[in-house]
Amino acid sequence: MSETLLKENKYYKAWDLGEGIVRIHGSGGELCFLVKGTEKALLIDTTTGYGSLKTFLSDLYSTPLIVVNTHGHLDHIGADFEFDEVYLHPADHDLFFEHSSAKGRAGFVAAANPSLEEMVPVREIRLLPLEDGKVFDLGNRCFRTVTAPGHTKGSCCLFDEESGDFFAGDACNSNTLLFLSDSTTVAEYYETMKKLKKLEPKIRRFYTFHGFSPVDPSAITDNLLCCEDILAGKDDHIEVEVLGRKGLLAKEREGMQRKDGRFSNIVYAPDKIR
Ligand SMILES: [Zn+2]
Ligand SMILES: [Zn+2]
Repeated sequence: MSETLLKENKYYKAWDLGEGIVRIHGSGGELCFLVKGTEKALLIDTTTGYGSLKTFLSDLYSTPLIVVNTHGHLDHIGADFEFDEVYLHPADHDLFFEHSSAKGRAGFVAAANPSLEEMVPVREIRLLPLEDGKVFDLGNRCFRTVTAPGHTKGSCCLFDEESGDFFAGDACNSNTLLFLSDSTTVAEYYETMKKLKKLEPKIRRFYTFHGFSPVDPSAITDNLLCCEDILAGKDDHIEVEVLGRKGLLAKEREGMQRKDGRFSNIVYAPDKIR
């Protein structure tokens, strides 16, 4: 898949990935995606929201826009407030309000660089429930919602079975965080991985929302095997500190790369295995 830089400003960078898919980089390296269909466009997540995402995207599509959040974390919902309504799984609604509160935003700004004033102002918007199987018809292509509890309880992925494009949010990547207060147990996440494993043969491009993206769909198998090892007490369980919090890493890595050459990895809490 060839990539062309479409545009950039102080806050955002947009890459055309072909087949109507645009990858947008936020100022903290977080990603969101615009998928253009013949009748509608789909915006999957909205980054942390430094600078206006709506203005930045305005000349990239010409149809009505549907906005969907993969989960309620601040680095995925930041520019939601520029739109009137946004889909998010109900299990993450409390998280959404917590992360978009002044306290939630201030905590994030303390950890990152840009100042609070540069963020999209919070206002009241309509949160629409995102549920398993919910379909978004863009005209020439369709996306189906696949719930994927783990990283957060309301995490969701979006899948176009015909093209094989699978948007994973933070559900499965090289640093899958399951040690957060909003995460499920590893045992529950294992059920999610078994469900995604069934879809893996039909996935062609597996879009993660941090780092290099898309990645190989075998990312699912990697984390499935990580779960099996953690549940059997056979993982590397290396003590790590991520986001100022202690956790256990399933597989040894150098930088962000697993030493055994596989891709996905899990950070979990010892008291949240089962
Ligand atoms: Zn997240
Ligand atoms: Zn994230």
